[in-house]
Amino acid sequence: MGYGDAVDGGTLTRAHAAELDRADPLGGFRDRFEHGDGDRIYVDGNSLGRLSHDARAALQATVDEWGSRLVTGWHDWVDLAERTGDALGAAALGAGAGQALACDSTTVNLYKLAGAALAARDGAIVVPADDFPTDRYVLEGLAAAHGRELRLLEGDPVAPLGRDAVAAAAEGAALVVLSHVNYRSGTLADMAAITPAVQAAGALVLWDLCHSAGAVDVNLDAAGADLAVGCTYKYLNAGPGAPAFLYVAERHQAALRSPIQGWFSQADQFAMGPRYEPVAGVGRFLAGTPPVLGLAAVIAGAEMLAEARIGAVRAKAAALTTLVVDLHDQRLEALGFSLGTPRAAADRGAHVSLRHPDAWRICRALIEHANVIPDFRRPDSIRFGLPPLYTRYVDVWDAVDRLASLVEDGVHERMPAEAARVT
Ligand SMILES: *Cc1c(COP(=O)(O)O)cnc(C)c1O
Repeated sequence: MGYGDAVDGGTLTRAHAAELDRADPLGGFRDRFEHGDGDRIYVDGNSLGRLSHDARAALQATVDEWGSRLVTGWHDWVDLAERTGDALGAAALGAGAGQALACDSTTVNLYKLAGAALAARDGAIVVPADDFPTDRYVLEGLAAAHGRELRLLEGDPVAPLGRDAVAAAAEGAALVVLSHVNYRSGTLADMAAITPAVQAAGALVLWDLCHSAGAVDVNLDAAGADLAVGCTYKYLNAGPGAPAFLYVAERHQAALRSPIQGWFSQADQFAMGPRYEPVAGVGRFLAGTPPVLGLAAVIAGAEMLAEARIGAVRAKAAALTTLVVDLHDQRLEALGFSLGTPRAAADRGAHVSLRHPDAWRICRALIEHANVIPDFRRPDSIRFGLPPLYTRYVDVWDAVDRLASLVEDGVHERMPAEAARVT
């Protein structure tokens, strides 16, 4: 990114960050979220996004509907998973209607789609060795249940996934599962290049979009993607435990069946017949009753994103993370930090990983003594997640300034060394 006139003698100042905020086309979205303590800097929206006023109102309206309509509400709620999936598809996923659902958790959706792929195809399962734990655990279980080899793809933790290396591992495999944005490093995979290479090797590819949906432009249809899953409580701001989503490309829907034969995917659901026969279409990946309250907040998140437009969100994510990289070079490197995220903005999502041998204690000190909320990922990463709809450039500047000052003053050296369960 060019800071242009903002850079003065090569040094970035807080005034430069404020200048970027004044020119920010998305700046108005910040006031549509709840901020609480005005001094607190929240850079953990990649774990749990902020509460928007829209989500609060949508949840309240749905609670009221429950109160007034009771069971008659199901006339409108019964197809909410499909409608919400279509809204997410249009706003966040680059997916045409009829291919996405909002339902269950990411973990359960991964189980359903990976299970369906394995039932339809012979061969191994491939997943990066450093992928998010739930993905590896679900696949480990499915590999054991289906008697398949689980191939763990080793690689550089920061460099983008190499198309040829993934394609080589995909030879003879049934399924390759990849994160679009790596949860620790923030590295963005080249979906458009990797997808056809895996398919040419004979495998289906399932993209985990947890750290990319709502943060970068995802173009599932254009990439020719097969399958995808992801969550809505990170960059889609739908709240803790919000329903996740899944995507099955239309051309695969007839040949794949969910391993969970629930009544919400039954062809004639209310006939309550003796045998299971799934509906045609993506609805066959529903299991049980849709989580109506949670879906209200997902729709609010999708609508706000549609208004902001994902292209503008992605551009700001690139600029915010670039500011962290530049401030790292200016101030943090000399304090023993290194960058755990690619330097090229095109190769990363909306979070940055700052590595330091004392990362755990520094992270605790940031939370307890500097009112900055990031998170820690083993072994040595502090993640700054920068959701573009509500993160200002001055927030980035202040967060790095507080981080640098704290390490300069040795505040972290007084923190206990042991790790808590959740940061
Ligand atoms: C956050 C995240 C998940 C979360 O799965 P849940 O079922 O919601 O707990 C899964 N995969 C990745 C890559 C994630 O980042």
